[in-house]
Amino acid sequence: MKSSAKLDRRTVKEIEQFLNDKRVQLRASVRTIVSERRTHEVDTNDDAQASENLHDEIQVVLVDQRSRQVAQIDAALERLSRGQYGICLDCNEFIGLPRLRALPFAQRCRACQTDVEIRARRTTERVPVGVAIEAA
Ligand SMILES: [Zn+2]
Repeated sequence: MKSSAKLDRRTVKEIEQFLNDKRVQLRASVRTIVSERRTHEVDTNDDAQASENLHDEIQVVLVDQRSRQVAQIDAALERLSRGQYGICLDCNEFIGLPRLRALPFAQRCRACQTDVEIRARRTTERVPVGVAIEAA
């Protein structure tokens, strides 16, 4: 197992601080959305119901997205504490500081991530259009 020796202690602290701050922000924003939803539920006006439902759906998507980001941050913090942060999941090479600074939750180096995306795109292209629509 390789260590994250290429990340010095100061950089690790910086990243850890950034991830913790980001997590606090995301959690606060999820709490705000959830408490707004509670306020809206009091309103039982039928005319408002249709737009209310759409509003609800958007909020559900936002909460879902943010919860997923919190999970990504948790995973990154865990890798940080185990000394595996910044190591590519696929090739076990150091991801590189510029990439980590731009994408603190990156789990793969640029080359492996590109591979994954190309493979994902090919898989999608192989699915006939009709099937894709039915599945969605
Ligand atoms: Zn890689």
